Amino acid sequence: MIEQLSLEERHKRHRERVREYCEQHVEPVIEQHERDGTFPEGLVRSIGEAGLTGVPYPTAHGGLGADYRSFAITVEEFARSWKLVAGAINIACGLVGYPIAQFGNDEQRDEWLTSICTGEWIPAFSLTEPEAGSDAAAISTTATRDGDEWVLNGEKIWTTHGSVADFLTVVVRTDETTDHRGISLIGVPNPHEIDGFSVERDIPCMEGAAAIESELRFDDVRVPVGHLIGEEGHGFRYIMEGLDIGRIGTAAQGVGISQGAFEVSSTYADEREQFGQPIRDFQGIGFKLADMASATEAARLLTLAAADQRDRGERVTKRAAMAKTFATDVAMEVSTEAVQVLGARGYSHDYPVERYMREAKGTQIYDGTNEINRLVIVNRMYD
Ligand SMILES: Cc1cc2nc3c(=O)[nH]c(=O)nc-3n(C[C@H](O)[C@H](O)[C@H](O)COP(=O)(O)OP(=O)(O)OC[C@H]3O[C@@H](n4cnc5c(N)ncnc54)[C@H](O)[C@@H]3O)c2cc1C
Repeated sequence: MIEQLSLEERHKRHRERVREYCEQHVEPVIEQHERDGTFPEGLVRSIGEAGLTGVPYPTAHGGLGADYRSFAITVEEFARSWKLVAGAINIACGLVGYPIAQFGNDEQRDEWLTSICTGEWIPAFSLTEPEAGSDAAAISTTATRDGDEWVLNGEKIWTTHGSVADFLTVVVRTDETTDHRGISLIGVPNPHEIDGFSVERDIPCMEGAAAIESELRFDDVRVPVGHLIGEEGHGFRYIMEGLDIGRIGTAAQGVGISQGAFEVSSTYADEREQFGQPIRDFQGIGFKLADMASATEAARLLTLAAADQRDRGERVTKRAAMAKTFATDVAMEVSTEAVQVLGARGYSHDYPVERYMREAKGTQIYDGTNEINRLVIVNRMYD
């Protein structure tokens, strides 16, 4: 049961600041990147320079030193404009940033976390393999100790931003005789400069050509032993904790997508006239807009409740999974309805609602599919 949800004036101000940033810097460049199929590398870096990438991390590491509610608000506002950049923030703070901040050593925090939060490095998280998707513990990429080095071998797929990444957190098996207890995390800065690392291809996908989802190969890739994050064999636990943050961020992406899709279709319903009146005045359209607004608000409240709980220092595994599942399902429904409200125009690239729909689909799949998240919820029903 949600016992508390507190938002303060500073959260409102933060939302206004991020929205203003998005309207000035993000929205003007979306169309061109989408049309040309170019990844907005400069934009992603400049978000870090503006201090908006590492929101929950200390200012000493280039972050904003803010709380997880501010993080959720940040991701939501970026996704309201363009999910692609919201996703980059979420990777930086969640699955990559959290294990370094929480379990890494001082050197890793000073160099790696700072470079990620300031936008100097674009990070990526490399877990999924051709034979290991939802069953993450089934990965077969190995890291073998050889003197002062780890030697990585294996294949990864669907590594978001992998082909442009300046830093990879690679999930590896350091003990082949066990299950998830043999899994570790290894940081690989500047992977493109290391012998044996290669990008097989960027996978053409529904999100569009500006999005980068890479297939990567590691053939005897050598990194110093000091690149192990935390303790050997504890990687699976670190991922699960990182996912608590990542899922709050993915939920926030769902909320932002819904909000963006709702706003476009609401404005359109006021302006578009058929049968001599604005289409909003047809009950069939008005009810759609009412349901879209209500679902978006419910998703936002659940997402902020998860962030609020995390800000109080509690584990949020169940609530983060609930928020992720609910908010991304809502994003799919709201964006699909938004296309319907716009009719044929909604189906065209002239309006952003079909992009929101494509983006929403991805959010139901990554950070654990919504089926896997439902398993997380049902297994913790009485927590
Ligand atoms: C846009 C995008 C970005 C991604 N980014 C990254 C990234 O940065 N890094 C990374 O490592 N990975 C990334 N992924 C991969 C993502 O994490 C996996 O796709 C996801 O974990 C599911 O794995 P899979 O695709 O192999 O599906 P599978 O595991 O093969 O599942 C196929 C279907 O079966 C269902 N299913 C599987 N097991 C169960 C079960 N026990 N109960 C019920 N249903 C089940 C699934 O829910 C799904 O519907 C990304 C994927 C996408 C689409």
